[in-house]
Amino acid sequence: MNKIFIANFKMNKTNDEVLEYINEFNKLIPKNLSDEICICLPFTALCNGKFLDERVVLGAQNMHEQEFGAFTGEISADMLKNLNVGLVILGHSERRNYFNESNEKINKKIKTALRHGLKVVLCVGETKFQRNSKKTNQVLKSQIEEALVGIYENELSSVIIAYEPVWAIGTGEVAKNGDISTAVKVIRDVISNLYSENASKNQKIIYGGSLTSETSKNILKNDDICGALIGGASLNPNEFIKIIS
Ligand code: PEP
Repeated sequence: MNKIFIANFKMNKTNDEVLEYINEFNKLIPKNLSDEICICLPFTALCNGKFLDERVVLGAQNMHEQEFGAFTGEISADMLKNLNVGLVILGHSERRNYFNESNEKINKKIKTALRHGLKVVLCVGETKFQRNSKKTNQVLKSQIEEALVGIYENELSSVIIAYEPVWAIGTGEVAKNGDISTAVKVIRDVISNLYSENASKNQKIIYGGSLTSETSKNILKNDDICGALIGGASLNPNEFIKIIS
């Protein structure tokens, strides 16, 4: 099964460093690539996306929900589209935690992104505390239900759901395959209840959280997930390529 690999650079790499990365990465992409690759650069480096191999989708890590206007420091969907961005990460736990992004705000951003023809990676996942309090299912349910208010079933083909347990992001602790499969089942049940069996079956779900070329081997064997969202390990082109291949 072809998989989707999405790199999230977060707040790392200057423009020059991104150019260096792209030069190296392009050379490493297998000729017979069948998987999908997307690299989510920092805003300041998106203009270098044009140098990426044409098989790689350019991604952004966030955007504002409004079309334009007096929102100092923010980036609109139009600005992303104008740089050929094809996908945007929304609802990342770092945005939820450090920038107080609510499900309601994430929902508005998703609607704007879809209206502009951007694909969306909707990140969901529980904290350690929520997990220990047996709240994982409830958290996933409310994050998805509230983020997808007013989104039509035919729009779900442009939405990838990333299961990213907060305790696994950047910690070196990777979720176990069993836990990932349980979370994926919960996510599919939520989609089935909101939409249909068909929508649930077709929903693309990926995993993110401390994956490396070593830990990803076992996780990517899990047929319940269609790919991975990779932060830290994607910053090294060799390591990212090892994960893909
Ligand atoms: C992420 O930022 O979405 C992520 C999965 O990060 P890391 O791979 O560094 O845990």
